[in-house]
Amino acid sequence: MFTLINLPYAPDALEPVISAQTVGFHHGKHLQGYVNNLNAALPGSPFEGLPLEEIVRKADGAVFNNAGQILNHNLYFTQFMAPSEGAPSGKLAVQIDRQWGSFDAFQAEFVAKGAGLFGSGWVWLSAQADGSLVITQEPGAHNPVEKGLKPLLTFDVWEHAYYLDYQNRRPDHLKALWSIVNWAEIERRYVE
Ligand code: MN
Repeated sequence: MFTLINLPYAPDALEPVISAQTVGFHHGKHLQGYVNNLNAALPGSPFEGLPLEEIVRKADGAVFNNAGQILNHNLYFTQFMAPSEGAPSGKLAVQIDRQWGSFDAFQAEFVAKGAGLFGSGWVWLSAQADGSLVITQEPGAHNPVEKGLKPLLTFDVWEHAYYLDYQNRRPDHLKALWSIVNWAEIERRYVE
């Protein structure tokens, strides 16, 4: 049985970047729905009792879609904090500068890949085994763990993530998300 994660902040803590209403629907309805669907599909399947990441790497169809969306949203919701002036530091900042030249250039590529992803999906920053970083576009419920990558940061570009607050203005939503990223958490994922 999988359970809905608790948010590490109040539902209105991300305002004005993400409204309490969007957090309420996104976490309480959409993510809860994926949890309910996976729990209904697992009994008697070959994936019953497996860890979530293993299900994502091995399953297909409805089991994959719901497991992938749980893994994606668990990483998504736990990477945010109240608006701040945060930026990467430590080893992660060094690696971003090494590969992109500046944090601004990294942000520009990340937003462009999120804005340019056709339909529903996710843009990800992940680490490879040697510590180098990569930005990927993942359609639907896909997650970089399927490619052997360690997922660090993700922006959800499904319309349910932003439509109540930004309507069709996906790039505006993506640019606004930078101010609520909890970089200490992203760095923790990178070095663990
Ligand atoms: Mn979502």
